[in-house]
Amino acid sequence: MPGLAGLSEPPRTAEDKEQLAGLRQIRGFLKVRTSYDVLPISYRLIMLDTALLVKASLNVMIQNGIVSAPLWDSRTSTFAGLITSHDYINVVQYYWQNPGALAQIDQFRLDALPEIEKAIGAEPMETISIHPDRPLYEACRRMLESRARRIPLVDIDDQTKRAMVVSVITQYRILKFIAVNVNSTYQLIKPLKMLNIGTFGDLATATMDTPVIDVIHMLVKKNISSVPIIDKNGILLNIFEAVDVITVIKGGIYDDLQITVGEALLKRPEDFAGIHTCSIWDHLGTILDTIRKSRVHRFIIVDPKGRLQGVLTLSDILTYILLEGEFPDEPLP
Ligand code: AMP
Repeated sequence: MPGLAGLSEPPRTAEDKEQLAGLRQIRGFLKVRTSYDVLPISYRLIMLDTALLVKASLNVMIQNGIVSAPLWDSRTSTFAGLITSHDYINVVQYYWQNPGALAQIDQFRLDALPEIEKAIGAEPMETISIHPDRPLYEACRRMLESRARRIPLVDIDDQTKRAMVVSVITQYRILKFIAVNVNSTYQLIKPLKMLNIGTFGDLATATMDTPVIDVIHMLVKKNISSVPIIDKNGILLNIFEAVDVITVIKGGIYDDLQITVGEALLKRPEDFAGIHTCSIWDHLGTILDTIRKSRVHRFIIVDPKGRLQGVLTLSDILTYILLEGEFPDEPLP
């Protein structure tokens, strides 16, 4: 992912100018809308108490079909961060380093996660949040700066003056909000090949025979949320996502980590949304149109023969939309 400094050169062609005008309209839109605006009229919010056992939290996730949840410390009545699949992966890493401690790991509660993450030198749990009245643009910048893929909206109760978690907004929800409401997305006409966007070199990949634990190590080492699965000719077959780890370790069966990617993928829930591919000749206008119509977390870029070429994730798209052609240190509004 490109850094947070301003990106490429000044616009040269009519196409460049059209593209930049489209991007500026989107940024203008994000500056006048708040995170509240993104929320649907009715929604559910599942929060987990930090006193819950890690293994019990896995069941809650699976039963409710969710992959992250804000944490609540009921002793102090405070928001305590956001648990995501990356935290479960950290528990797996801890187990991998301390296999003799399985009985102890089974007794871990969610409030032990910061200690576990510190012990293995992993990225700590996400604790950023934003007030729902702040501009969406600011929520996006915060996510990009901290590399978070979602951000909890935390308000302060007028009477008790205590924090109140309102909801969590994801990169997908923000991009879909843009795709539905901003018609200048049709101005994003430059093909991906001409943009400084996505990752093409040094891709982490695996095959159906790769042990799941090796893929988990790749997710951690590169701080990514998926690994494309390819065959010996480089043809894309599937992807293994960080969220797939939740189903692999459900019930606390950490020994299942020796299974292959192929076996792990058979455990996927039946409502798996599938994989979205695109080509280097697609442009962001069509990419956003796909986001408008379906729940997408990333696009895998393939050539006409289906061979893997690159990865375009929602973080890549959001970074580009926010920063392309901007001045490096543009302050937050
Ligand atoms: P993500 O966390 O999936 O949004 O990805 C973070 C950054 O890593 C983005 O710039 C992606 O393009 C890049 N990325 C995602 N998956 C891979 C992969 N399998 N190998 C290398 N880079 C990747």
